[in-house]
Amino acid sequence: MMTVLKNFRIVDKNTDIPGALIIENGIIREIISYRDSSANHHVNPFIDKADVVINGLELPFGGGGPEGQMPVLMPAFVDLHAHFRDPGFPEKEVLESASLAAAAGGYGTLVCMANTKPVVDSVEKMAALKRRSCALDLIDLYPVMSLTKNMEGKELSDLAGLPAKNESAYKGPLMLSEDGRDIAQDDIFLKAMKEARRIGIPVSCHCDAGGKEAEKAKQAGESRSVWSRIEENIATERAIALGKEARCHIHIAHVSTKEAAAIVRGAKAAMANPHKLLTCEATPHHIALTGACSHELGDESYGRVNPPLRGEEDRQALIAALLDGTIDAIATDHAPHTEEDKAKGAPGFSGLETSFAACNTVLVKSGLVDIRRLSALMSANPARILGLDSSGRGGRGLILPGFRADLVILDIDKKWKVDPGAFKSRGKNSAFAGMDLWGKIVMTLRGGRIVFFMQFPPG
Ligand SMILES: [Zn+2]
Repeated sequence: MMTVLKNFRIVDKNTDIPGALIIENGIIREIISYRDSSANHHVNPFIDKADVVINGLELPFGGGGPEGQMPVLMPAFVDLHAHFRDPGFPEKEVLESASLAAAAGGYGTLVCMANTKPVVDSVEKMAALKRRSCALDLIDLYPVMSLTKNMEGKELSDLAGLPAKNESAYKGPLMLSEDGRDIAQDDIFLKAMKEARRIGIPVSCHCDAGGKEAEKAKQAGESRSVWSRIEENIATERAIALGKEARCHIHIAHVSTKEAAAIVRGAKAAMANPHKLLTCEATPHHIALTGACSHELGDESYGRVNPPLRGEEDRQALIAALLDGTIDAIATDHAPHTEEDKAKGAPGFSGLETSFAACNTVLVKSGLVDIRRLSALMSANPARILGLDSSGRGGRGLILPGFRADLVILDIDKKWKVDPGAFKSRGKNSAFAGMDLWGKIVMTLRGGRIVFFMQFPPG
């Protein structure tokens, strides 16, 4: 099976060229640059043989003009942090709706958190979810396994039973996490981290385990944003310190305060190889919005998220941290809820279908970063954190020969109004509702196969 994608602006972490892409049996075979004068001579024989040809200039938007107007073709996005709510909370989301939302958001590979009912705390539960996802065939799902049984923070999940990841038949998780609450007891947290090191996978730390200072602030009646800031800063420091002791790869989830970003920056600077031991993510909502937005939506209802949206100074600090490499990846923390749950204060937003547009608007349209950097943050770096970045194993996150043809076609200049009612996710809770964002996902391909194509005419 051969597919040719021609007349695209091909973008990844390292590339930004007009060209064509040859895909054979789901794998990228060749990239042909139009800057090379013999490009047509190169492409035409493939077109003659191709089963499918997708011409960027024939897509019904933009296009039709000089190379600057060719639609953008990027590696599909990789999400290190999503809540699929399956099994256990079908009123909020199910595997099917989350997978459709992911494909519609341009995602090809996702990690889903284990705080479901039951908690995913065994290889069997993880494998059951993975099997269902394989049957759907829309995305590659890597369920997280919890660090402790039922996420109670007491007894380790069966981590000791997992082989090392470099063994060829490895079928275990690519990431471990206790999700919303890091393990409270140091010795148990440390023991889990030592297992993660032995297996060779990162521990995603949510950094809101609490601490005496945070507890004091809470007791004193301080607002949630005050005690949660203290909590995040202390918990970030703690996770890094324990990780250092265990010599385990710590991944800091949804960093949101300027202090926590500085803590991560300092810790990375002291490491010889931070890529392998300390990585960090931020969410589109923390990068794009501030507490003023959650206040408007309702601090204890529609605007509530963990960690809370912070001040403008924090937001600027996150952007600086994205620019200097302190933050490695953008992760959605997709957290779908029912209208009823959200009105009662359930934390989080549905994020899969707005993440590219939010980041494109705030980071690229504004001129803060170029689109290659955004591709690194949304594809190459998260793939690297999961160890999915080598072509020998069907690499993702880059457009290179040998890598999987997980791709997304974008109309980056399309302005649209966010209407959560149109989300494929069951969760219609969005902090971006009603806002104008730039950048529409036109098509998502997985292994060279189309899994999402936007409706026309584009709305
Ligand atoms: Zn989470």
